[in-house]
Amino acid sequence: MFTVALTGGIGSGKTTVAEEFAQRGIAVIDADVISHQLTAIDGAAFPMIKAAFGAQIFNSNGELNRATLRQQIFNDERARSQLESILHPLIFAEMQMQLTRVRSAYAMLVIPLLFETYQQAIADHILVVDIPEALQIERVQLRSGLSLNMIQQIMARQVSRETRLAGAMTVIDNSGELAALAEQITRLHAYYCGLAGKEKR
Ligand code: ATP
Repeated sequence: MFTVALTGGIGSGKTTVAEEFAQRGIAVIDADVISHQLTAIDGAAFPMIKAAFGAQIFNSNGELNRATLRQQIFNDERARSQLESILHPLIFAEMQMQLTRVRSAYAMLVIPLLFETYQQAIADHILVVDIPEALQIERVQLRSGLSLNMIQQIMARQVSRETRLAGAMTVIDNSGELAALAEQITRLHAYYCGLAGKEKR
């Protein structure tokens, strides 16, 4: 199965791009979605997180308080790598399992922190969705209530735009209108079908 890893900075348009590929019949496997499922109350990572982080990161209904956990790992390198060592093998295993079920010409793996977590080897191809930093901030502000300071802190923790572009095999420019994005994706879809050795459907 030919696989494409889709990555990009916060608010760059990963979800929007993935949706466009899904509309063209391509299976999309999203690391964030899997992570969310794994950390749900019946998820495989839940007991491990409980053991590692203790009761203070859970709500009274027993569910994980994601905001508290996010806050706890934000400035604590050790806690972050502990969480990653719990989640990453499970996310990887789940992605592999889901890949065995894929029937589309190729599969798209959405991995927001591909470069930050050195997972470049996970897929055959790396697709980066790119926008200038100022636009990243603008779109995240429009979408969420995050403060400018918070957005800048998150961006500072992610690899730089240059590093991401240097690691890309293909780049999607998402600085324009959605119609311009769709046009690029139509072209890319044909290209990936070719790389996968499959006829475009
Ligand atoms: P995150 O890293 O936070 O998960 P993301 O990379 O998945 O974000 P999206 O959620 O796809 O990014 O896009 C961020 C915001 O920008 C959304 O509100 C989306 O609707 C908007 N957006 C995406 N592409 C465009 C575009 N070409 N023009 C205008 N708005 C856009």
